[in-house]
Amino acid sequence: MRLSRYFLPVLREDPKEAEIVSHRLMLRTGMIRQEAAGIYSWLPLGFRVLKRIENIVRREQDRAGAIEMLMPTIQPAELWKRSGRYDDYGKEMLRISDRKEHELLYGPTNEEMITDIIARSVQSYKQLPLNLYHIQWKFRDEIRPRFGVMRGREFLMKDAYSFDLTREDGEHAYNKMFVAYLRTYAAMGLKAIPMRAETGPIGGNLSHEFLILADTGESQVYFDAAFHEKDWTTFELDYDDREAVAKVVEEFTSMYAATEEMHDPERFEKEVPEERRISGRGIEVGHIFFFGDKYSRPLGAKVLGPDGEEHYLQSGSYGIGVSRLVGAIIEASHDDAGIVWPEPVAPFQVGLINLRSGDEATEAACEKIYAELENAGLEVLYDDTSERAGEKFTRMDLIGLPWQVIVGPRGLKEGVAEIKRRASGERENVPLENVADWLRERLNPTG
Ligand code: ATP
Ligand code: MG
Repeated sequence: MRLSRYFLPVLREDPKEAEIVSHRLMLRTGMIRQEAAGIYSWLPLGFRVLKRIENIVRREQDRAGAIEMLMPTIQPAELWKRSGRYDDYGKEMLRISDRKEHELLYGPTNEEMITDIIARSVQSYKQLPLNLYHIQWKFRDEIRPRFGVMRGREFLMKDAYSFDLTREDGEHAYNKMFVAYLRTYAAMGLKAIPMRAETGPIGGNLSHEFLILADTGESQVYFDAAFHEKDWTTFELDYDDREAVAKVVEEFTSMYAATEEMHDPERFEKEVPEERRISGRGIEVGHIFFFGDKYSRPLGAKVLGPDGEEHYLQSGSYGIGVSRLVGAIIEASHDDAGIVWPEPVAPFQVGLINLRSGDEATEAACEKIYAELENAGLEVLYDDTSERAGEKFTRMDLIGLPWQVIVGPRGLKEGVAEIKRRASGERENVPLENVADWLRERLNPTG
């Protein structure tokens, strides 16, 4: 992509309304624009990141056996009256009526709708197990929308819903999602710590929130430093192997980690030696929850079991804050100069900078490298504008692409381009003809 033909409305000044760094950087780099409190347009740069995150989420859901579909944003109120949540949800739910005065709502979540779909189409245990998901916009009229996309009113969520015959099968569905979540965040360059969450009246311990650490997080968290030593990237496993899946879950849940609401100081002291006790702030980027027949009962989702009897389905729901993750990743990965995108979610992999626009030889060299990088399948943002070199450097650092290729007259004389790694600032001169190969070797395969 040529920057001269792109839409990247970078702001010169820090926007005053932004309280935290991710919100400030997203506005400054022209990733988003606010339309109303907690409601944003996703401009091209932000949209690319959102799509990358979505694709990683999708890939890991698919691997774990979940099946993608799409439910509408607008739902009939009637479904929610049947589950009893129409009143419970209160003012957080945006209620709408159409021209025929049918009561509708903008969905804050989809348990009722998916359970109704299943109730109408699944009659036998032989059609199970099922785990269906979609990646769709939600609306919650939050009391305090803030921090940009981190707590929006309209936001993008992946929500999956599992349906099983028995509690045991349901637990396996839950465990698979648990492992898929670990893999999902790791694939984005994040370590999200699973923490026990409240389960409500069903009890048990089948509810976890996944939090990434950041000073600006809304949740107070307590955990064992052992999490820092844990390797998040290594669990390649067969999702059908119940024991193997359960073992990974057990490995993670046996280490102490809790949000304020679930924190037990006594247990913390007993189980974790003092030097390993860590408290800090975290951002919730996902939440998984097993709730048995809570919705299948009121919505009549039951199947004939192998025993010839009818059974209400055992269900769970599994959310990931896709749009919140964009902000959360920036909170976890930035420096004074701007964003530092982890490669797998970066909007472009490479930024190409022409240091002397107007100079024929430099322009020709840039064009050649640009074509080679594109041919090598890399995603490149080529700063071909006529601005000064200083401005280009500042902007490229601000938008945080993982690699910068810098081409100027001095290097050209020696036949080299300078390649800079944004994360570490390391620089290396690379012969012009090797730039594409050099980068391809170093770029991790992306999702
Ligand atoms: P929170 O405690 O942050 O309000 P929640 O418990 O209401 O979250 P869930 O209903 O479990 O959230 O939704 C699943 C995921 O969706 C959350 O883990 C979070 O990452 C994301 N999410 C929830 N509310 C918002 C919001 N207002 N803006 C952006 N993302 C959100
Ligand atoms: Mg909430």
